[in-house]
Amino acid sequence: MMNVPFYSLDYVNRDLGPSLGESIEAVVKSNWFIRGSRCQDFEEAFAAYCGARVAVGVGNGLDALTLMLKASIVLGRMAEGDEVIVPANTFIATVLAVKAAGLVPVLVEPDTESCDLDVKCLQAACSSKTRAILAVHLYGRLADMPAICDFAKAQGMLVFEDAAQAHGAFLDKRRVLSNAAAYSFYPTKNLGAMGDGGAVVTDDVELARVVRMLGNYGSEKKYVNQYVGVNSRLDEVQSAILLAKLPHLDAWNRRRQDIAARYCAEIKNPLLRVTPVPQNPQAHVWHVFPVFCDSRDELQGFLKGHGVETLIHYPIPPHQQEAFSGALARGGLRHGALPVAEKLARTELSIPMGPSMTDDQAAYVIDMINSYKA
Ligand SMILES: *Cc1c(COP(=O)(O)O)cnc(C)c1O
Repeated sequence: MMNVPFYSLDYVNRDLGPSLGESIEAVVKSNWFIRGSRCQDFEEAFAAYCGARVAVGVGNGLDALTLMLKASIVLGRMAEGDEVIVPANTFIATVLAVKAAGLVPVLVEPDTESCDLDVKCLQAACSSKTRAILAVHLYGRLADMPAICDFAKAQGMLVFEDAAQAHGAFLDKRRVLSNAAAYSFYPTKNLGAMGDGGAVVTDDVELARVVRMLGNYGSEKKYVNQYVGVNSRLDEVQSAILLAKLPHLDAWNRRRQDIAARYCAEIKNPLLRVTPVPQNPQAHVWHVFPVFCDSRDELQGFLKGHGVETLIHYPIPPHQQEAFSGALARGGLRHGALPVAEKLARTELSIPMGPSMTDDQAAYVIDMINSYKA
């Protein structure tokens, strides 16, 4: 029996070697840890990588989402109490950020095949208070941004991206396809720090300036506070780590794409389905490789028994979480019936994926899945 971990960070040391330690040591020697040159260098490098004008480093992905929305309110483009459309099958952070910004999340069904926001459901979800769409590139696959942006433009709405799982996914050489995109650098993301980190990436210099101020006590000039801000900054150690890792991101994503292509071609079991590689393979960076199976829990147990570690993304959709039930639900979320999102939560299983995986491990995972019987 082979043991295949769900995800391993072994590739980082393999590909970066001693340079990573040297980067960290240089920060230690500099005696400068917050708002220094490494954060600035990383912001410039990441903005250039994304083909956008500005990146603003913040404390984590949730803050990136929240501050991007709050900045839009500060600039008068939305108002507290306005509604923001989000997919119903996302990680809780997307919904929490909308709430934290004083906005109302409107949950919309995903498309079964892409698992991203179903564009056909947008019109019916809108009310007179709906002001923006926050698309999530779930599992690393770009949502249908051309269709989402066309719809939003016709309705006079803003568009934002939760790109926390999609570093490096692109369409027509551009990685930011909206007013602004929020990234997370949680350690296991496609581009991960060694602690928490996040960024807002945008072409809108004014929005970026306000995000930066909101993350620094609402202040641009020390001890002069223009907004009610928070403390959310990307520190120098994390910036140095991200700077060292960024040049490898494309190669790491290519490795994920190769494994995904193999999974899609070779997983052949009538009891489960995979989500196919999109027409433009660059539009999917496979943060997660999901399979869908009616007997998901049995499949997970079977794979565990054969040494294959799996996870579920996500077992309970936001609208069924206790946090949004009962008294707290009042004025909380707006949504209708969500059978598609609920079925995805019941049947999804994420199988091993990542740049550390060997061909032998991928072949073993495929063999085990193909040998699963009801
Ligand atoms: C990880 C993640 C976040 C939150 O990022 P943190 O850095 O953990 O705060 C938000 N949205 C999605 C889709 C994520 O996967």
